[in-house]
Amino acid sequence: MHCDQDGAMLVQYLDGELSADQASALQQHIGECPRCAAEVSELIGLKHSLRAARSRFTPTIEFRRKIERQIAKPRHNWWRTRFVSALATAAVFLVIAAVLWMQRSRHTDSLGEVADLHVEALASANPVDVVSTDRHTVKPWFQSKIPFSFNIPELTGTEFSLLGGRLVYLHQQPGAQLIFNLRKHEISVLIFQKTTEISNALPAGSRTEKRNSFTVATEDSQQLRFVIIGDADANEMQKLAQLIKIANE
Ligand SMILES: [Zn+2]
Repeated sequence: MHCDQDGAMLVQYLDGELSADQASALQQHIGECPRCAAEVSELIGLKHSLRAARSRFTPTIEFRRKIERQIAKPRHNWWRTRFVSALATAAVFLVIAAVLWMQRSRHTDSLGEVADLHVEALASANPVDVVSTDRHTVKPWFQSKIPFSFNIPELTGTEFSLLGGRLVYLHQQPGAQLIFNLRKHEISVLIFQKTTEISNALPAGSRTEKRNSFTVATEDSQQLRFVIIGDADANEMQKLAQLIKIANE
């Protein structure tokens, strides 16, 4: 589809700066144009990231004053002002893009580390520190080894069985790795407390993605982040993720 939509207009649209007529015309266009729809959803993502960043970083008083001095300067040259403000906008977007890119690549790296933990356990002669199919044996084993507690779901009536668990570290944060069996597949469930380090390192919320030969599903409870990784098909992985989530609600 041909589209000559001005990107700046999409920003104005999201900021509520368009007239009602302009907004409804654009809204209709977005409904029909996948390119603009994608751009809008990316911009919404940016807005969210900005809001999140704003709650984490407070500008210093000096920085604020400097900006205020810049704003207070007389505008003797119209095009120069326009140029400088366009440049400033471009710089801000560049910084945001860099932050988002870093965040994404950090997530990718950490999921790679999670995959390594899974492979390491499977390749090891003693894949688990506590060998038991009984969740009432495995859960207490972690007490005093990790600074949080979690629940292991009841697996009776499902095709999953528990093989055991071991202590793991990700970004110096202690966590629990549980290993489950599904037919001939082994699946790891990694459980971490939602500290800032873990929140920065692992993607949040319910997601499932392919990573090399593995499927990785993530889930959150109020305090914990779960990563479910294995070579079973995505449906089975999500089923286990749901069981874990429900048990920890
Ligand atoms: Zn368009």
